[in-house]
Amino acid sequence: MTTTPATTTGAPTPHGTARHTGIESARPKRSIEELRALALEGAELDDTNAEGVARWAAQAFPGTLAVACSMAEGVLPHLISQHAPGVDVLFLETGYHFADTHGTRARVADELDVTVVDVLPELTVAEQDAKYGPRLFERDPARCCAMRKMEPLARTLAGYEAWVTGVRRDEAPTRTNTPLVTFDEKHGLVKVNPLVTWSLDDVTAYAHEHSVPVNLLMYDGYPSIGCEPCTQRVAPGDDPRSGRWAGLSKTECGIHT
Ligand code: SF4
Repeated sequence: MTTTPATTTGAPTPHGTARHTGIESARPKRSIEELRALALEGAELDDTNAEGVARWAAQAFPGTLAVACSMAEGVLPHLISQHAPGVDVLFLETGYHFADTHGTRARVADELDVTVVDVLPELTVAEQDAKYGPRLFERDPARCCAMRKMEPLARTLAGYEAWVTGVRRDEAPTRTNTPLVTFDEKHGLVKVNPLVTWSLDDVTAYAHEHSVPVNLLMYDGYPSIGCEPCTQRVAPGDDPRSGRWAGLSKTECGIHT
């Protein structure tokens, strides 16, 4: 529906050229104590009822809710937008995405009742290359992720009371204990994971049922999609996340750990 580059001025900027420097909160945030109490309330919800969790999140955080989306598909933005029309969908625009991921981002913005917000690093890829040398993702992926994903996300989440992610417990051993709703100590807001009990088949079935945009790479051996230099095709039956930072000990960018 809408695309918004999140800038301090709010001035519209074409996709891919905006420098994300922060985002203004839709309204003042409640206290940490109030947000902690809401997280405890949400933790009591039925973790098999994603629809109910989405409804609760929309009611508990009106205008202060953000949805994180990697643009593997638009399932989570669709689910949340049914209860929070126009909700902000945060896309970490690292500058390293597949063309198909940009295509999915465009379809999500056009076809769903959401506002896609491009979350941009402080440095463009060219500026990062000039400062740290080219292909930092090969030499120090942790540093690259910190600059291109973690810092921009943390800066952006400061403007919200809660964020919704599509993390599922079946994705990886590092995610088996993911709570349904928790207070995110690292970012200082409530974190809601409505899909924790879903499988990849559940995600694709929802997308099919609701005609939600799906990244074509999902049908081409990429069940988990990140930046192009750090994502490889996986064999059928392999760990879905084994194609991320393949050959390295790194398995997470740090956002959810
Ligand atoms: S996934 Fe790779 S290219 Fe993307 S931010 Fe992390 S290290 Fe850099």
